Amino acid sequence: MKTFIRISLFAFCACLFSTAQTAAPSARARAIHDSAIIIDTHADTPQRFLDDNFDIGNADPNDIGEMSLDKARAGNLSAEFFSIWVDPKTNEGHFAKHTFDLIDSVYEQAAHHPDRMMMAFSVADIERAHKEKKLAALMGIEGGHSIENDIRLLRDYYRLGVRYMTLTWSNTNEWGDSSGDIDDPKIQHHNGLTDFGKQVVLEMNRLGMIVDISHVADKTFWDTIAVTKAPVIASHSSARALVTAPRNMTDDMLRAVAKNGGVVDVNFFSGFDDQKYWDAAQAQKKDEDAAVEAYLAQQRAEGKPVSYMTAEHIQREWMAKIPRPSFSVLIDHIDHIAKVAGVDHVGLGSDFDGMSGATPSGMDSAADLPKITQGLLDRGYSTEDIHKILGGNVLRVFREVERVSHEMQAKSQ
Ligand SMILES: [Zn+2]
Repeated sequence: MKTFIRISLFAFCACLFSTAQTAAPSARARAIHDSAIIIDTHADTPQRFLDDNFDIGNADPNDIGEMSLDKARAGNLSAEFFSIWVDPKTNEGHFAKHTFDLIDSVYEQAAHHPDRMMMAFSVADIERAHKEKKLAALMGIEGGHSIENDIRLLRDYYRLGVRYMTLTWSNTNEWGDSSGDIDDPKIQHHNGLTDFGKQVVLEMNRLGMIVDISHVADKTFWDTIAVTKAPVIASHSSARALVTAPRNMTDDMLRAVAKNGGVVDVNFFSGFDDQKYWDAAQAQKKDEDAAVEAYLAQQRAEGKPVSYMTAEHIQREWMAKIPRPSFSVLIDHIDHIAKVAGVDHVGLGSDFDGMSGATPSGMDSAADLPKITQGLLDRGYSTEDIHKILGGNVLRVFREVERVSHEMQAKSQ
């Protein structure tokens, strides 16, 4: 990134700003975009695989999903970390079983589309998939409750191919506090990570599973940074200096991730990227939750199975009530993190298929990823820096996590 270009371009771009951000990318942007290895660290599509029988090879132009093999190709997406997210409410008592089912759903998609998609477990696999023009499918567990307080299950998940784990989701588990319920006095908190939680982090380091601090409470973040021996990621988090959502990251946290060598992958959800959207979503949250609960209760009363996807269309209706922010808010977060933490410490963590359609204007699916390259180019970022943001930084972290793992395993032999 070259600051002087940015300043001069600002004056030039101001008049074009609203259209340039969502118009088709220029030939130059497209060339820069298409020569990158692009990695997205968070998509919730496995919920659709499992609960909706969604086929990632589906080419239905009316499909509302943000991820498919066609959309990934159109956006030159090289690798996706599919989120293995177990809703703690609807899966009470059988977190591991649901974790295994979601893992299976990703493998099944790859098995059905061997010509266009492959399972990937390493940096080398991502590079191989890129050469073969296949989507590299990786998996990250979202929420430490999936390990059911059992370090052996953590190891089993690694063996099945899981390459990151978000220490908590929106729920505090028995060893780590979440930002999602940190103000709820009914929840028993731990002041960050417990001793077992710290052991989990170190075992992840040893295995070569990336530690993901998206969703965790601030104290959990600081405990993790203090204990981890490898760089961490925030697989889908934006900047709190721009939007006050408690799961966005403060500037101090961004600087700490930079010092740790990690990367913060910006979330595309309008609520985390635009303050007005966040405020409006908070204002309607009580009514929205009540509408969802009423629908779920009705489904249960009729004896129908209930999953996260059951009420997703209701959440979409509520999200659609709020005006979409402009595409530029997404670039603002990338730019802010690049300024505060450095351009080596920012990446993409879309949260595709997990936002109930609430994305900035023009970001409708993975096919729109080239618009990010255009947005960064408009702000004066160099080709080299854009390539880092699109995937190079995540590859560097993953490589370092692999190196630390080999080193720890060699020492413990
Ligand atoms: Zn999430």
